[in-house]
Amino acid sequence: MRTPDPFKLVVFDLDGTLYEETHHFDRYAEEIAARLPDGSREAFWRDYRDAERGRHTLRLGRAYDAQADLILAHRRGRVTGAWTWDGRALPADEVARRYPEPLRFDRETLMNIGDPWWLPIAVAVHYGLGPEPLAEAFLATRAFMQSEAFVMRPIPGLRDWIDRFRARGGKTALMTNSPEPDSRTILRKLGLEDAFDALIFWAEKPAKTEGHLLRLLAEFGVRPEEAVSVGDNWPNDIAPARRLGLYTVFVDPYGLGEADDADCIVPSLREALRRAEASGRR
Ligand SMILES: [Mg+2]
Repeated sequence: MRTPDPFKLVVFDLDGTLYEETHHFDRYAEEIAARLPDGSREAFWRDYRDAERGRHTLRLGRAYDAQADLILAHRRGRVTGAWTWDGRALPADEVARRYPEPLRFDRETLMNIGDPWWLPIAVAVHYGLGPEPLAEAFLATRAFMQSEAFVMRPIPGLRDWIDRFRARGGKTALMTNSPEPDSRTILRKLGLEDAFDALIFWAEKPAKTEGHLLRLLAEFGVRPEEAVSVGDNWPNDIAPARRLGLYTVFVDPYGLGEADDADCIVPSLREALRRAEASGRR
């Protein structure tokens, strides 16, 4: 991580960035499975478990074209391979004909499997689950995450780093696609409820990332090169920030990134903080 001293604004994603817990993904898969018809539940679990373990064509880092029921490998949206659900590769000329342009991801028809939230969604959509039950399953999972049963551990050193950065006049912002009430509860559990100068919930990243960032830069009087975007979802948190000229820190616990995907790629925020500390500046 470039030393924090020249930076005046840091914009953080929430889920997958400010906490390292992963056991809620199992809960999410259970909530989704409970909404599937009896006949497809077993197949859902088989494919989901295989996908989680890297034994299915569907896996983290790929994309799912729900309309064509095809699994896509891509590099920054450019399709490099396509498979049927059961793993049959499409010929290269057919791939080129179907996907001549970079993919434009959305949340229902063309999904980027950029983090583990998307694995059970893609499997469930393959088995015919619609957007309403999926939304219910998501909110039920967020409710679980707000409950006492979901224990969260703050990332060591994070609050301290934020406090020191703000004491020097730095500004911090949170930008999350998640709803406000559960995100606030999660921030409270992490001891971060008052750690931000701006909070953006329901951010609708990636479509609205650039607009939010431009507003934050204007609000705090900061130039793009004096700002940092930190997140674990490349299309949502990194690509739009790079287009605007912000410094980018890609939190990449699953090793999906390639060397030039961001200014700094780290397996965890904990590691980014460690590097910032090791650089000797505070
Ligand atoms: Mg995230």
